[in-house]
Parts: sequence; C-alpha cells; structure tokens
Amino acid sequence: MTGGVDLVRRPELISLTGRQKEQVRDRAHRDRKTCTGCGSGEFVVGDALYLGYLFRSEPLDAYMIALTCANSSCPDPYNGITLHGPEFLPSP
Ligand SMILES: [Zn+2]
Repeated sequence: MTGGVDLVRRPELISLTGRQKEQVRDRAHRDRKTCTGCGSGEFVVGDALYLGYLFRSEPLDAYMIALTCANSSCPDPYNGITLHGPEFLPSP
C-alpha cells in the first residue's frame, strides 16, 4: 500500500452518513475487530462497496466497508469489514 496517497474516488463507492458510520464503528467494536497493521481497535469508517453481485461467495446483500486505522503511525492502516446491507443501511 502507498500510504498518504489520495486515491481517485471510484464511482461504485457508496458514501455513508454519520449515523451509518457510527453503526459500522459500533459493530467493529462489538466484533472486537483490530487493525491488521498495529492491533489498534480504533478506526475511521470510510465508504462502502457493494459485493453481493460481484463475488459469488458473498451473500447478495453483502458490502465491504473501508476502515482506516486511527493510529497515525500505523504501518498498514487499511482494513475493512463485511456487513449485510440491513446492518447499516436504512430499510427502504
Ligand atoms: Zn493500525
């Protein structure tokens, strides 16, 4: 990974609201998710990517949500969590 480089924003990414990000952060805490780079449990929640139709091994409502380690000196801050849409998206 190239740290500090702003990647061009991809059109397939879904922006989350503050409330949705809070739900994802709560879920990561509940699952005791830790950073693969440094072991920290604090993350900044980013965008979501729909996985369901891209990967046959994933449930149809699966999303990968970007989690960036909150530790500024983390050697490998890019993490992610896979959730079902209803776990963080409002029901239609
Ligand atoms: Zn980290």
